[in-house]
Amino acid sequence: MATKILGGKEVASEMHKNLSPRILDLKARGIDPQLAIVFIGDDASAESYIKGIKKAGRALGVNVRLEHFPPDTKQVNLKEHLEALNQEPKVHGVVIMRPLPPRIKEDSLGDVLRPEKDVDCFGLINVGRFMAGDARAFPPATPQAVMEILKHYDIPVQGRQAVVIGRSMVVGKPLAMLLLKGNATVNICHSHTTDLSAVCRQADILVAAAGHRGLVVKDMIKPGAVVIDVGINYSEGKIRGDVDYDAVYPLASAITPVPGGIGTVTPVVLLKHVVLSAERTVEG
Ligand code: NAD
Repeated sequence: MATKILGGKEVASEMHKNLSPRILDLKARGIDPQLAIVFIGDDASAESYIKGIKKAGRALGVNVRLEHFPPDTKQVNLKEHLEALNQEPKVHGVVIMRPLPPRIKEDSLGDVLRPEKDVDCFGLINVGRFMAGDARAFPPATPQAVMEILKHYDIPVQGRQAVVIGRSMVVGKPLAMLLLKGNATVNICHSHTTDLSAVCRQADILVAAAGHRGLVVKDMIKPGAVVIDVGINYSEGKIRGDVDYDAVYPLASAITPVPGGIGTVTPVVLLKHVVLSAERTVEG
């Protein structure tokens, strides 16, 4: 059977279709959904993500406001700024771009952010709520984008063996929780996993989120597996994933491309959370 390419554009455009009437409805009530991006420093991958969010915001009619700070900004000033955003009724969502400069303490910024505006599950209150399955928390956008792709292409999760490579708070850990919530049996691999290939070969759904170009090779694939590549690696001016796409493609039943896969859906998921946050202000 031919391998299905799980393109992100199709998923993003379906999400657009569903979000547009909700945004129009908010605007008719005088509410203009707005996301504030707090970007500290000059990380290239964060810059490219911001570009994607702005583009998606323009297409959808969601205001995206960039607040850019130099890398040597004092923690106390960032906290004050976040407190001001907390108080601003026009701002419905705030995302703090990762990675942060090493001298900035992530937890102490997350503690300031109001959970209702924490649309990317940055602060520990929302992390706790998310882990407990509390619907008030917005799931982190990238893992949720993986779930949106699986849902869009009717890929069943329940009862299947899922393997996630990577255990960060941004992708690996929360994604494992979402797959678990979908009733998959989940293995999480990381840089200390002793036999990565053996674990990966058990996967019906294999997700690579390691940030290691070409880590997943064909010997790691169970024939017919669904392969999701979250990795973004810059190489010779191009974006590459964690999966050796050409070698893995013939074995997989379905595979996401890089670029054009998860990265295309993530900004729309983030804006969907902003819309939901704005709707919650109406509902009270
Ligand atoms: P991270 O560096 O915080 O975590 C990487 C994880 O992978 C770690 O848990 C580490 O143990 C594991 N790992 C690294 N090398 C490994 C190896 N050789 N074998 C097994 N495990 C290994 O990175 P992150 O923030 O979780 O991001 C992961 C990747 O996803 C990066 O390439 C990042 O750019 C990409 N990303 C993509 C999107 C998107 O929207 N597409 C969003 C966020 C991150």
